[in-house]
Amino acid sequence: MGRGKSAHFDRWVLWVKHMGRRTRAVIREKTDYTRFLLDLQGQGLPSSPKPTPVVPSKPKISFSPYRQRIMSDETVKYLYSKSSGVFHDKSCPEALKIPDEELCCSKEYLTEIPQCPLCAIKAYVRLGAKDLYNFHRYERLFDRMRFDPALIRQMYIQKGLKTFAGSNGLTIWGKEDSWRLEFREDSDKTRLMHNNYHPLPDGTRVFTKGYHVQVDPVTPQYALSVIAEYTYEAHKAAMLRREQEVQERLRRLSAAQMPAPSEMLPTEQRKTHKTWAKVTLFIEKFKTWLREVFLK
Ligand SMILES: [Zn+2]
Repeated sequence: MGRGKSAHFDRWVLWVKHMGRRTRAVIREKTDYTRFLLDLQGQGLPSSPKPTPVVPSKPKISFSPYRQRIMSDETVKYLYSKSSGVFHDKSCPEALKIPDEELCCSKEYLTEIPQCPLCAIKAYVRLGAKDLYNFHRYERLFDRMRFDPALIRQMYIQKGLKTFAGSNGLTIWGKEDSWRLEFREDSDKTRLMHNNYHPLPDGTRVFTKGYHVQVDPVTPQYALSVIAEYTYEAHKAAMLRREQEVQERLRRLSAAQMPAPSEMLPTEQRKTHKTWAKVTLFIEKFKTWLREVFLK
């Protein structure tokens, strides 16, 4: 009896599973049908993604194969004309006016050809920026920091500095070090930060994380001259010279004040000398006090 009941129960379970699968299939069919109907009516399901609007594309400029080859070469940065003698950034609209037979290209910045004023900043930034894609950020930073085109040219062309544009200033790479020319607390004034380093006993150094204040506040002109001239060897030599000067000044001062240094006297005389020095100092202080009180 028990086994018969169990077999009946198993059949019943199989039937329920079978009907369940059929029911789900019917629901799926219904859903698919609804979508189909709505699609026919041009409505679609509420959850269906909206079609992206068609943006009219800019009319493409058709280049000759020669110009096309130049424009698609990523190593080419600048264009100029054989006859006009003006140097352009690759993106300059003025360069489009140069006829093919006059068109020359360059991977380097050629300082002997006069720069076109229209594309000057782009041409300078293209040479020294590690992030040309941030060009609009550069324009905003230069404007706020009051860099004029001459200073931007000096930074990239003459001093050969490299940069990266951040939201609060520029990271600038000089000969060996990296620097930050950044805004001081929500103002348009700038300060110069220098990368941290740790001096080693052999006279070299190792760079560590972060920056320390070098000059605050600073003008962009002065900051660029500091960055372009700085080397660690020159810095160490300057520090040594300054220390020697201070030592020399102290030596002269003590020689003028103490014609007979107490260290050169015998022990008894040295004690007396120290006592007299204290008494003299006390008298000098007392005289100063008297002058302050009575000569006001
Ligand atoms: Zn130009």
